[in-house]
Amino acid sequence: MKALITGGAGFIGSHLSEELLGRGNEVAVFDDLSTGNLSNIDHLRRITGFTFHQGSVLDDMQELSSLIEHSDHIYHLAAVVGVAYVLEHPVAALETNTRGTENVLRLASQFSDARSKKRVILASSSEVYGKSAKVPFREDDDSVIGPTLVSRWGYACAKALEEFVGLAYHREKGLPVVILRLFNTVGPRQTRRYGMVMPRLVSQAIAGEPVTVYGDGEQTRSFTYVKDVVKAIADISLVPSADGQLFNVGNNREVSINELAELVRNVLDSPSATVHIPFSEVYGAEFEETRRRVADISKIREYISYAPTTNLAFVVKEIADDLRTRQGEQGVGGANERSG
Ligand code: UDP
Repeated sequence: MKALITGGAGFIGSHLSEELLGRGNEVAVFDDLSTGNLSNIDHLRRITGFTFHQGSVLDDMQELSSLIEHSDHIYHLAAVVGVAYVLEHPVAALETNTRGTENVLRLASQFSDARSKKRVILASSSEVYGKSAKVPFREDDDSVIGPTLVSRWGYACAKALEEFVGLAYHREKGLPVVILRLFNTVGPRQTRRYGMVMPRLVSQAIAGEPVTVYGDGEQTRSFTYVKDVVKAIADISLVPSADGQLFNVGNNREVSINELAELVRNVLDSPSATVHIPFSEVYGAEFEETRRRVADISKIREYISYAPTTNLAFVVKEIADDLRTRQGEQGVGGANERSG
């Protein structure tokens, strides 16, 4: 099988590349290196069957078109990521996530015929549930999105639009499309530059700097280990009955950010103190937070064997090892740097 991974030089994309190569597939990565990084895939470039192509899903249509033509499965991960990054680059967040996805779907449809169809796996986000208070989130739950004045919800709407367009291509053009809502994926190679909590807290704890918890820290997330996530992505892409379906790829364990901060400090035996910082100081006055986020994962478990049970303490240690290695190689800057 020939796989194309847009955004394959990013955190999740690079792990997915490894997973698919490990299963004997050919993998082409297409990435504009805006938030992805060649260092994530350096170790893969020697492997037969792996190729890297630099380009954007917005601007480099010739290259994208040729790559899609020669692929069987297209894993569309190219996206603007991270709440902090999205707030600083709202235009890119909206354009890449909507127009970029439309480009991929249109080309996949153009190069499909009755005998051979491209299967597209779209990486969406749990952000689409917005600030819904009904947890755990199920795929058929309502999205609860706040006012357009709050940029964060533009990202949520862009991801929702991406899902609508994917489902429309499936219904109207018969394109096999599988949509995955990823929940706070964590693991090695995730950079803290785009504001994500796990790499930030781990790098702060390693440096002995204050561990920054935003708000009262009682907001919750369900952190999911990247290797569990990419295994699920690879597995579900082989299930024909998943076409036209939407799945949560998350975890049903709910962890508050206060608990996460404590876990990180304990696991890394860090002298860091925890400091609470008001959201308004970090994200500006017009920010709205998602108070609780937990995935109902019963649907995906009807289709594949999915057990995201990897222990969070193990993941914290692995991230710390990875950060220390990369710190040695390239220098990671101040631990409290917020965004790229
Ligand atoms: N967060 C925090 N300290 C940080 C970075 C993030 O307390 O240094 C909080 C953030 O406000 C949110 C949670 O951690 O409540 C998860 O943030 P992240 O940006 O990783 O993901 P998302 O908000 O998209 O779930």
